[in-house]
Amino acid sequence: MSENTAAAAAPKVGFVSLGCPKALTDSELILTQLSAEGYATSKTFQGADLVIVNTCGFIDDAVKESLDTIGEALAENGKVIVTGCLGARAGETTDNMVREVHPSVLAVTGPHATQEVMDAVHAHLPKPHDPFVDLVPAAGIKLTPRHYAYLKISEGCNHRCTFCIIPSMRGDLVSRPVGDVLKEARALFESGVKELLVVSQDTSAYGVDVKYRTGFFDGRPVKTRMLDLVRALGELAQPHGAWVRLHYVYPYPHVDEVLPLMAEGLVLPYLDVPFQHSHPDVLRRMKRPASGERNLERLHAWREACPELIVRSTFIAGFPGETEEEFQHLLDFVREAQIDRAGCFAYSPVEGAAANELPGMLPTEVREERRARFMEVAEQVSAQRLRRRVGATMQVLVDSAPGLGRKGGVGRSYADAPEIDGTVRLLPPEKLSKQLKVGEFTKARIVATEGHDLVGMPV
Ligand code: SF4
Repeated sequence: MSENTAAAAAPKVGFVSLGCPKALTDSELILTQLSAEGYATSKTFQGADLVIVNTCGFIDDAVKESLDTIGEALAENGKVIVTGCLGARAGETTDNMVREVHPSVLAVTGPHATQEVMDAVHAHLPKPHDPFVDLVPAAGIKLTPRHYAYLKISEGCNHRCTFCIIPSMRGDLVSRPVGDVLKEARALFESGVKELLVVSQDTSAYGVDVKYRTGFFDGRPVKTRMLDLVRALGELAQPHGAWVRLHYVYPYPHVDEVLPLMAEGLVLPYLDVPFQHSHPDVLRRMKRPASGERNLERLHAWREACPELIVRSTFIAGFPGETEEEFQHLLDFVREAQIDRAGCFAYSPVEGAAANELPGMLPTEVREERRARFMEVAEQVSAQRLRRRVGATMQVLVDSAPGLGRKGGVGRSYADAPEIDGTVRLLPPEKLSKQLKVGEFTKARIVATEGHDLVGMPV
């Protein structure tokens, strides 16, 4: 092969991203770096010179999926680098599960290890000579559709919830410098992002680790603190007419200060608050953050401050030792708190979690039966809250609209986060001149509900 041909054929990296939105942002960082250095990506294992698998190690199903994917990549390609949460997990006899199951992988790293992954790539697939740095957009490469993006503000977590092994894999909370976070947000908005999803393990704790240090953005001082960050993000979003949505917010008292920003429309009146349970004794056994707060009162006060507020949450049914009375407390909470969107897992032991040592493990049938009962109540609440939307006109961000929406499309209102909440099914517009475009907003008159979704007529 001549030198010219060699330069033209950029080395190809296959990439598989498994796991949660937080893992997705790691994948985006790695892909951005690969692209900046001139590597190409391959959609198939066989077509790649090397494969990177970003894994998830949170629940047993995810571990299996990750290990299976690594196995497939090894069988079809042979050169595999593993990164992500599973990479940080110990095996049965050694300190690394991935190497134990798949000894032939080239390298294994934990999560948030872009540089280590790049070092491994360089070692096994040398960098091309002519990096196409200029071709990489300032905001990096995004795996999510162009019009929405996840913004990770911190890594790790200072809590030690007994059912969770994330802190043992990812370590204590490390907040990203506020200037870097805002710079990334601005680049995302400038590259066309219309919805920014703020993610972390504990968004309300942003800046605790650096004692809310003052950072700088555009020469202005900004505190590394949730309220200041959220306000600055809202101000950056405004000229682009874009949305800012907050995930993983624990109900600490200081979150009250964010509600006025929602009421004035700076950020979406939407909070993803992972309550997990309501009964104080269960919360204590779970060692949950903010378990001592009066969550019901806090929620009522939030709704008073911002009546449009949507609350999404996740819960665990059948935690070890959960009595029928404690479970009833949870059902009452969901009804009284009027949780708009609720997800529920039947408790399932995670290898290495402290909760496995708690007495009173419930039989699988009881855990599953409670989950089903929970979902029945949660769905009633959610459906009833959704029905209040009928007749309203809502702003909808269009996610899909084949043929410019002549046959309708699918979008989401402020009440729906991508991938986890419902959608708004958009009917074909009555007005012939009306077009729907992916990544743009349309107004829609809500005409009906359909399960978790709404049906809207674009206007
Ligand atoms: S807050 Fe609890 S559940 Fe969430 S990451 Fe930290 S330890 Fe895990």
